[in-house]
Amino acid sequence: MFRYETHMHTAEGSACASATGWEQAKRYKESGYDGIFVTDHFFNGNCAVRHFRDWEDRVAQFCLGYEHAKEEGDRIGLKVFFGFEYSYNGADLLTYGLSKQWLLDNPDVLDISVYEFCDRVHRDGGYIVHAHPFREANYLQEIRLLPMWTDAVEVHNCGNSDQAMNDRALWYSEQYGLPVSAGTDNHHLSVKKLSGVITEEPIEKPEDYFEAVKNRRVTLIIPE
Ligand SMILES: [Zn+2]
Ligand SMILES: [Zn+2]
Repeated sequence: MFRYETHMHTAEGSACASATGWEQAKRYKESGYDGIFVTDHFFNGNCAVRHFRDWEDRVAQFCLGYEHAKEEGDRIGLKVFFGFEYSYNGADLLTYGLSKQWLLDNPDVLDISVYEFCDRVHRDGGYIVHAHPFREANYLQEIRLLPMWTDAVEVHNCGNSDQAMNDRALWYSEQYGLPVSAGTDNHHLSVKKLSGVITEEPIEKPEDYFEAVKNRRVTLIIPE
């Protein structure tokens, strides 16, 4: 059995996070995880990157949290994968399977619609999990569902303040036949309850994660 975090933030990339990429990698290794997906808030979300010279500099700063986690992960034996959390006025889309180079090659990514974004992600081999679709919080104005544009639903998120928000996400996934995943949405080292997924085969590359989710071969980690 192999254990992975699918939704976490770093202080380098997310304005609301306090743990660095190095610290997050270390803590997940110590918590018995085999790998993590770094999913910092993208430029259209609560991103830490506010001052930059140009697109290249903006992307370079954004990827620092992932790079620091990767550096530590390589040292201690933890797989670290790149992702990001794209925001569309209340819909947060965990985007996997792309890279820093993809961001550099798509400097218009903030100018295209969310639909074009989803199309482009899929065209280029990426995968989109709708994070906490039914979360209610003071920074969210609307519940926006995009079942035709996303690949899977995060049906457990430790950042949801009420279990009903997770229950509704599960209901939504069942209504549309969408595969499910789970994540902590971890921002801080102080977080005690960790979520994620357990797989029978190791995840060596992001595609292994998509395949496991699609084929419903993941066990969701639901902390007490
Ligand atoms: Zn955040
Ligand atoms: Zn998040």
